[in-house]
Amino acid sequence: MRDHYQLIIIGAGPAGLAAAVTATNHGISCALLDEQASPGGQIYRAIESAPATRAQVLGSEYQQGKTLAEEFRACSVEYFPECKVWSLNSEREVGVLYKDQSKIISADQVLVASGAIERPVPFPGWTLPGVMQAGAGQILFKSAGVIPSDGVVLAGSGPLLLLLAWQYMQVGVEIKAMLDVTPHSNFLSALTKFPRALLAHHYLTKGLIYQRDLKRAGIVSKMAVSNLKAEGNGELQSISYRHLGREHSIETGLLMTHFGVIPDIWLTQAAGCQHRRDSSQQCWRPQHNEWGNTSIDGILIAGDGAGINGVRSAEYAGRLAVLQALFSLGVISQAERNQQSINPRKQMRKERHIRPFLEAYFAIPQNMLATTDKSTIICRCEEITAGEIRAAVDNAHGDSNQVKYLSRCGMGPCQGRQCANAVAHIVADAGGEAISDSSLFRGRPPVAPLTLAQLASLSAENAS
Ligand SMILES: Cc1cc2nc3c(=O)[nH]c(=O)nc-3n(C[C@H](O)[C@H](O)[C@H](O)COP(=O)(O)OP(=O)(O)OC[C@H]3O[C@@H](n4cnc5c(N)ncnc54)[C@H](O)[C@@H]3O)c2cc1C
Repeated sequence: MRDHYQLIIIGAGPAGLAAAVTATNHGISCALLDEQASPGGQIYRAIESAPATRAQVLGSEYQQGKTLAEEFRACSVEYFPECKVWSLNSEREVGVLYKDQSKIISADQVLVASGAIERPVPFPGWTLPGVMQAGAGQILFKSAGVIPSDGVVLAGSGPLLLLLAWQYMQVGVEIKAMLDVTPHSNFLSALTKFPRALLAHHYLTKGLIYQRDLKRAGIVSKMAVSNLKAEGNGELQSISYRHLGREHSIETGLLMTHFGVIPDIWLTQAAGCQHRRDSSQQCWRPQHNEWGNTSIDGILIAGDGAGINGVRSAEYAGRLAVLQALFSLGVISQAERNQQSINPRKQMRKERHIRPFLEAYFAIPQNMLATTDKSTIICRCEEITAGEIRAAVDNAHGDSNQVKYLSRCGMGPCQGRQCANAVAHIVADAGGEAISDSSLFRGRPPVAPLTLAQLASLSAENAS
């Protein structure tokens, strides 16, 4: 690994891979850093190693990743897999952990393509063994072919939940029930976005096919479920929920939940980029322009890390951001940049027609984002409950960062990844304030867990 590159790309998902291919076509020095062992990111995880039968079950969208991975392998980017990026600053210095050795490298341009994470939504019992996120279930299937052997209940909201149910159905997993928390009122708010969504009707068709297949397979699916609770003594034994005014319960040792995805913003936060609350996507995302420029010169963002827009859009955004980087580096002229951006920008706009509909339809109910159940654990690392967070709000003058200092929530190994959103919502709710741009914890390095020995290896590297 060199000390300096013209371009560093962080993330080997569709955005980062497409960016790397475009960049190296122009002959610049470019490194791509990714914590996974192989390229693909979330959607194309294990795309190079998944057996054909598994790839078929994962669907045509997944299989399209093969071409991109092949293009990527053929390009001349310096690829560093299993490389964790633990810091980024406004001087475009990147802290990496590679082969157990820390190093600071720098670049003229940095493209953050760090993607998305599943939105953590705490509810009673969500920390019990036996409760996991649906995305984690899908990761096990994509990367190792592991599936639940004794049945599963799927609960939550969003396209990924439907997709996973359909994938599981095909490999014979027993789906005991699908519990959708999408309230009926979402239908109405989504209705106005429907005409535009028709311009991307292939997504709607795919969703309808999944639903039809699940129904034909006799899978029980309930809409507008509320009061979801996971119950058990030391491990999950059952779940309870409310549906059509009545309480229900299902015995299960495995519950997989999904509540949509949100941008992974830890690196752009650590760098000091400005972030905005996106009320439609119910998340925070870095401010950026049509080329992916953030508020810091030379730091660009592309893909779901910039705002959730899906896989195809991520690829186009990766290409556009690299054109901008190439222009800033003086490799291409403004006219060339503009000319080469016409097609990807047009395609990207087409892909995005579906988003407003999906965002309105799958919006998570406010009472789930800011739970009022005081005994629910919000910060899993430090075991801080919603009650403790609500109690700290007065002394913290309604500021999430002060709540963090007073309660230690967000100070554990995950550094707030699992609780930051929920804390922001609970603090705003308890203080009677509207959720805002500044409701989230401030980000700072290291954004990923690092041992002292790994950090200390930095000084040895500098001395040599
Ligand atoms: C768990 C999960 C499963 C999903 N499954 C599907 C699916 O099946 N179908 C679908 O259409 N969409 C799926 N999505 C949505 C999908 O991820 C995106 O639409 C698409 O992958 C976005 O591409 P991207 O390049 O922006 O990011 P990603 O594909 O998320 O790639 C980002 C990459 O950056 C790496 N990275 C992040 N931070 C660091 C760091 N600090 N150091 C080093 N590397 C880092 C990540 O490990 C990852 O490899 C899923 C999302 C999640 C969270």
